[in-house]
Amino acid sequence: MTCIFCQIVSRQLPAEIIFEDQDLMVFKDINPSAPIHLLIVPKKHFDSLNALDEKNAGIMTKMWLTAKKIAEQQNMQNGYRLLINTGREAGQVIFHLHLHLMGGWGARAKSRAQGAGR
Ligand code: AMP
Ligand code: ZN
Repeated sequence: MTCIFCQIVSRQLPAEIIFEDQDLMVFKDINPSAPIHLLIVPKKHFDSLNALDEKNAGIMTKMWLTAKKIAEQQNMQNGYRLLINTGREAGQVIFHLHLHLMGGWGARAKSRAQGAGR
């Protein structure tokens, strides 16, 4: 098995796991493009959104609602961004479906203003 995210899900590879249930895992993006950058990943492998159809698309509802819940837990109440890259041309590099959850800009701006570093 070569899929990196399948290996994280089966704990063959390490990740900073934030949340897990029977269907999903949420872990920190290794190369964050926001102060808080998490990946919401179905445990079952789908190459991309294009692999979903009416029979299995329920996982997306779960992913959106988990994003909302984690955003609240991570104090992103002032806003967060959700993104799914689908296909190489759109920048997808890991071909295991995942939803990017990004936020935390306000907290970073505040700590900068207080001289607390980054
Ligand atoms: P995408 O371009 O949508 O396929 O995004 C893949 C994301 O996975 C990128 O933001 C990477 O930084 C992230 N990533 C790659 N490898 C790992 C890893 N081992 N642990 C956590 N995040 C990763
Ligand atoms: Zn996979």
